Amino acid sequence: IEDRLRQAQKMEAVGQLTGGIAHDFNNMLTGIIGSLDLLKRDIAGGRQDRIDRYMDAATTSAQRAAGLTDRLLAFSRRQSLDVQSIDVNSLVAGMEDLLRRTLGESVGLEVRLTTAAWPARTDANQLESALLNLAINARDAMPDGGRLTIETDNAVLDEHYVALLADEIAAGDYVVISVSDTGTGMAPDVIAKAFDPFFTTKPIGQGTGLGLSMIYGFARQSGGHARIYSEVGRGTTVKLYLPRAEVAAAIAQDGPAPLRRAEA
Ligand code: ADP
Repeated sequence: IEDRLRQAQKMEAVGQLTGGIAHDFNNMLTGIIGSLDLLKRDIAGGRQDRIDRYMDAATTSAQRAAGLTDRLLAFSRRQSLDVQSIDVNSLVAGMEDLLRRTLGESVGLEVRLTTAAWPARTDANQLESALLNLAINARDAMPDGGRLTIETDNAVLDEHYVALLADEIAAGDYVVISVSDTGTGMAPDVIAKAFDPFFTTKPIGQGTGLGLSMIYGFARQSGGHARIYSEVGRGTTVKLYLPRAEVAAAIAQDGPAPLRRAEA
């Protein structure tokens, strides 16, 4: 009976999620259809200024809808990671232009790269999209401007520390990427749910609630860990812990070299 109850609760949750997505998607389509309708009328009247406005509105709605389906697909696919040894510092440095453009004029970007960062064992594309997602969340949390700081670091997590974490990760060496903003911050009940898929506090059509859950899944799939530190009115820091890449593992892929050789 307990099993069946759990199954029923799961089905109910899935039903709620699907309902929410259908609702969001429907809103976007309504936006497109409405704009096209107005557009048709104004084409007849020849009002160029209005025509431009309705076309822009239709395009924006269509882009939102496409973004939603993209993220749903990415989420359901649970893409397998293309794991390699990644130089996190140069990955972050290579994203600075894109991040600055994403943040706009009112949000400053500060990048602090640790010297002699360890290589991380992860998927570069997914790490890039995780950082971009974090920057977008940060921007949304700083409507009146502020500062986004991205920091890299090396960390040794010992057995005592990892035992305290909710996630099961191995004690050992990790590369840490911290993304901090000076925005609205999150209340404890929001922090508790933020990694849940489809949890969002944003208006319908603007938030899908998939960003942080994908970032969390990505960190876990990499064998790492993600954590939120936040305080209302002060800002938010999201930390990604990615396992340090071992040189020996890279050698082992090319041939039957003994796994421990390069560790000395
Ligand atoms: P979405 O951004 O689509 O809402 P996310 O999973 O990325 O989905 O985020 C879930 C929720 O967590 C957001 O709706 C917001 O309430 C909160 N959140 C995420 N990042 C931040 C941040 N940097 N500052 C404040 N709140 C945040």
